[in-house]
Amino acid sequence: MSRLHERHLAVSPDWLALYYRNPLELTHGRGRHVWDADGNRYLDFFGGILTTMTAHALPEVTQAVTEQAGRIIHSSTLYLNRPMVELAERIAVLSGIPEARVFFTTSGTEANDTALLLATAYRRSNQILAMRNSYHGRSFSTVSITGNQAWSPTSLSPLQTLYVHGGVRGRGPYAELSDERFIEACVADLEDLLGHSRRPAALIAEPVQGVGGFTSPPDGLFAAFREVLDRHGVLWISDEVQTGWGRTGDHFWGWQAHAENGPPDILTFAKGIGNGMSVGGVVARAEVMNCLDANSISTFGGSPVTMAASLANLAYLLEHDLQGNARRVGGLLIERLRSVAARFPAVREVRGRGLMIGVELVRPGTEEADPGAATAVLEAAREGGLLIGKGGGHSTSVLRIAPPLTLTVAEAEEGAAILADALHAAG
Ligand code: PMP
Repeated sequence: MSRLHERHLAVSPDWLALYYRNPLELTHGRGRHVWDADGNRYLDFFGGILTTMTAHALPEVTQAVTEQAGRIIHSSTLYLNRPMVELAERIAVLSGIPEARVFFTTSGTEANDTALLLATAYRRSNQILAMRNSYHGRSFSTVSITGNQAWSPTSLSPLQTLYVHGGVRGRGPYAELSDERFIEACVADLEDLLGHSRRPAALIAEPVQGVGGFTSPPDGLFAAFREVLDRHGVLWISDEVQTGWGRTGDHFWGWQAHAENGPPDILTFAKGIGNGMSVGGVVARAEVMNCLDANSISTFGGSPVTMAASLANLAYLLEHDLQGNARRVGGLLIERLRSVAARFPAVREVRGRGLMIGVELVRPGTEEADPGAATAVLEAAREGGLLIGKGGGHSTSVLRIAPPLTLTVAEAEEGAAILADALHAAG
């Protein structure tokens, strides 16, 4: 055990999980690579989830941060600052929400918490619809809308949450249905739930479940839901914390794969926008955003240094069409991983959209999830110089791949080869 790890254990809660038997201490990064304290270099296939959306040490972001830090570092939503207003203007347009209003927070959890505050106030109801297997954060309110119990440590929440089918097919009766039948079944489930509920404020959903193991519902599911929700006056909150900013390749936001009946009422974002800086936010149409009788609800949201970083990052990703890169390189990576998977019976499925890719592991010849194998592959990949993540439903048996969006074809090929070796070593 490293001396740093010992010191960490002495001051941190027991439940603070660290990846790896021998935890990583990162010292620096560049592009799609990071280095640890022993000087080992790793190809980073998980930076995207851990907020480095574009690239490590992106010069444009570093410059924006240092210039802004040299001018003023402060945090108060009582005063204006130019980068905050400029970023809000850009996000309002990009969101696709008419008459959009934007409020910045410091994390995805806080963004979802704010979305709940808005929806419950707007509808004067504490009932929320969420998806089975979902993840929305671990604050007091967000654990209670997180359907994935493995990631929801405790909840004595005053919210009343009802869970809806649709985010994941699982192994049960939904597994074999065609996309069309699956949507029909989920809509019927929603209708049934609404028939027996009080007056839910909102449905909150991730367009692609992140922590849940990168599972996508068929395109159009949320459009079909929207039609039902509208009839009942229930708001739709799209949690774009992982799917925003082009990561899914085909769309800038995940909700756009479900756009027939219009945009969500509320959209939340976080993680990648600051390329590692702590930024999140909520976008809602004016009528919903303005329903609160409040005078701000945060001190740190919109602080100028994080806003300057986010503006520079957003400009870079739009100028360099990183959504297109996610589609192209992500498509190629999925293809490579599928041909690797064909050699390993432990891989049940390679799935994903753009640069959001899940590799689900089972005990060979069965449908039984294998979290032990996922941990073994994670460790072996690290030995080979590749960082990946893990997640999944009730057992953590899905390898998660979400590299920075500037990933090159050569790096995708290299990562797939290291993962093949890791599957071999772990098997
Ligand atoms: N929503 C989703 C979909 C997430 O994946 C996460 C983080 N994994 C959150 C919300 C919470 O974000 P944060 O960790 O920034 O609070």
